[in-house]
Amino acid sequence: MKKCKVRFAPSPTGPLHIGGARSALFNYLYAQKQGGEMVLRIEDTDRERSKIEYEEEIIESLRWLGIDWTEGVGKGGENGPYRQTERLPVYQRYIKQLLDEGKAYYCFCTDAELEEQRQSLIKKGETPRYLGQCSHLSAEEVQARLDAGAKPAVRFRVPRNKIYVVNDLVRGRVSFEADGIGDFIIAKSDGLPTYNFAVVIDDVLMGITLVMRAEEHLSNTPRQLMIYEALQFPRPDFAHISLILGEDRQKMSKRHGATSLIQYREQGYLPEALFNFLSLLGWSPHGEEEILNPEEIIRDFSLERVSKSPAVFDLDKLNYINQQHIKRKSLDELQALLYPYLEQSPYAAQVKALDEKRLGYMIAAIRNHLVCLTDVNQELGVFFDQFQYEEEALEVLQGEQVVRVLTLFTEDLPACQDPAEVGAFIKQVIKKSKEKPKNVYMPLRSAISGRTHGPELPALICVLGREETLRRVQHTLEKING
Ligand code: GLU
Repeated sequence: MKKCKVRFAPSPTGPLHIGGARSALFNYLYAQKQGGEMVLRIEDTDRERSKIEYEEEIIESLRWLGIDWTEGVGKGGENGPYRQTERLPVYQRYIKQLLDEGKAYYCFCTDAELEEQRQSLIKKGETPRYLGQCSHLSAEEVQARLDAGAKPAVRFRVPRNKIYVVNDLVRGRVSFEADGIGDFIIAKSDGLPTYNFAVVIDDVLMGITLVMRAEEHLSNTPRQLMIYEALQFPRPDFAHISLILGEDRQKMSKRHGATSLIQYREQGYLPEALFNFLSLLGWSPHGEEEILNPEEIIRDFSLERVSKSPAVFDLDKLNYINQQHIKRKSLDELQALLYPYLEQSPYAAQVKALDEKRLGYMIAAIRNHLVCLTDVNQELGVFFDQFQYEEEALEVLQGEQVVRVLTLFTEDLPACQDPAEVGAFIKQVIKKSKEKPKNVYMPLRSAISGRTHGPELPALICVLGREETLRRVQHTLEKING
């Protein structure tokens, strides 16, 4: 059996967004699962809007996400070049073939004429399309205009009275009437091919067996099928994956918050979490478990479980998934991931002053509270800020047992080198005080941090160290005693 080969073909007219990343990911998952190949092709024929910086950002985003390709930009391969603007002679060859065979023709209409036609069709309530004015020009007429220096576009002659059918692997059988489609441009007057033409030539020459892309390209598919037919190319399979909607059920856009992958990276999302989250935008795993690593997703991925209905982007779900992936990290991994954020934090100096052991305790103490890596700063305040007691903490500190408990605590507090030891010590205090655990933990936490919630108490104490812990408790006792 022929090896499957998919492609991701972004236009470098902006950064990689959630939608593009999802298309790239599904192609990657499919290729990985099938043991196939994947091409990265850059579709940069819109010269005005395409920028090399965007191409670089797209590639950086794909790499960060953990998507790899076997052939294409950044990798090379035997079907290159992989940037469309570097393939112009290839397209010109096929455009000439279509012109020679009468399947395409030169169009000399000006933008103004085309616009006028468009408006008049709209006024009549008809679908705006090209009505074929230049399709009847004689060879002599065409030659005369070319000799006079006109720079025509090239239009494809759409066959009449035909139905084009695609058996889409996600959407099923979809048919299109050719009559609703006007003769369309395949090469602009500057010689550059249009998307619908170049995409076919490239998919064929690059040996693509499955074209998987966003649903918004479904309406382009009949035009592409016509080109396959006209050039007698074998067709690949097609799979159109559904739109991604915002929580308000509108198409995803900037209004729905950060959308470029790089922005998510900057906000402290893990690539594994985004990989996991994107995979669930339109696909569902066999089991109940939704927190999955890339290997698990690849193993389970199939087009049969890709849904036809639109996917909804749910930020709470992304946050939840990110939190779960943070929890799965080892302490060393998490420490390395947090390093850049710690270095830039207002507490950088204090963090630097911690020895390895205490740094480890601190990270262990906050890990369960992190939704994003950037939350680390918010979590560090409790260790380093000069705090004000919160209302609830003040209430706790009014308990009749409080002075007794705090005093017992200060009497024998050990060296605070090991959270297990401190934990055992607090249990002793509970025993000696004959209080319920809560009546000891809450005042201690309130006295030490000014809050009633926060990181594990023994870890907090070990990060602060014996001296600072005692200072805080003394300070609280003085406050209580007026
Ligand atoms: N360059 C097109 C895009 O970015 C690719 C469409 C396709 O995959 O055919 O939308």
